[in-house]
Amino acid sequence: MKRFALVLMVISITFLNVFAQQSTITKNKGYVIVLHGGAGDISAQNTPPEKQAALKSALTEALTAGKKVLSNGGTSLDAVVAAIKVLEDSPLFNAGKGAVLTAEGKAEMDAAIMDGKTLKAGAVAGITIVKNPITAARAVMDHSEHVMLAGKGAEQFAREQKLEIVDPAYFITPERWKSFQKMKEQDSLKRVKEKFGTVGAVALDLDGNLAAATSTGGMMMKKFGRIGDSPIIGAGTYANNDACAVSCTGHGEFFIRYVVAYDIAAQMLYKDWSVDKASDFVINHKLKDVGGEGGAICLDRKGNIATPFNTPGMYRAWLKFDGKNEEINVAFFK
Ligand code: ASP
Repeated sequence: MKRFALVLMVISITFLNVFAQQSTITKNKGYVIVLHGGAGDISAQNTPPEKQAALKSALTEALTAGKKVLSNGGTSLDAVVAAIKVLEDSPLFNAGKGAVLTAEGKAEMDAAIMDGKTLKAGAVAGITIVKNPITAARAVMDHSEHVMLAGKGAEQFAREQKLEIVDPAYFITPERWKSFQKMKEQDSLKRVKEKFGTVGAVALDLDGNLAAATSTGGMMMKKFGRIGDSPIIGAGTYANNDACAVSCTGHGEFFIRYVVAYDIAAQMLYKDWSVDKASDFVINHKLKDVGGEGGAICLDRKGNIATPFNTPGMYRAWLKFDGKNEEINVAFFK
């Protein structure tokens, strides 16, 4: 009887050990969320203190929304959606309310999301009536057999998914309308000193899973149903647990041709480079050398953050909790 009790004890100790080991392997101690609010001709000189304060408060609110999800054991996917929704609702950024306008004076938005664990992804392009385009991208990933839906079809799908629908006028702020009127007189995309203003988020959750999301109104005065890099998986948005999560902002045509988000991940996978080295190489060398302006936020599974940009500034913010301490950072300029 004594022997039986001993065997039982050994078995249960072994079981407990295995269980404990597994939970430290599969469970991270901390979580991270990183955001961008666009790159471009952003400097202390052209960003008045009140604007800086407003941007800081919006980015902090978005970090807090993401943290709420992550600290409760929620997924990185839910965290990036929560953060992006805050930025889409803010008129300060080129996403959701405050999106830039097409040559016809309309807001046509793109968004994408990707799950680093499963490589599932969802994207929408050229939509005009969904209050939070990122929720439409998420619905495409979760509830359709496709990755990307565009225009009227995407909007019909969003209605069927019971997403919040608004009048297209909701997105047009007085500030965007004013700059649209001014640019109409100039007529060329090239003459516009760009502040890209797209929003993006990457996150790492307590289970060690990465996710990336991007939402944008695209580029001011875009024509003919132009679609940028943001909703294109691998160009403006990418996540893979084996490498990193990436959200880009900048001149989309370059980010598409140079497949920037995937290229950063590929440099890590094939060359065994760090997220810092890989993203610096792609943004500050490959892209910069050909005149591709912009930046990216990148995050690996160990919680390493890289935020390279080759423009004067990029609105960026991150929150990192390592299990003990929380670090918050908001920065705009070089
Ligand atoms: N990359 C976006 C686009 O080309 C613009 C931006 O980053 O603001 O559509």
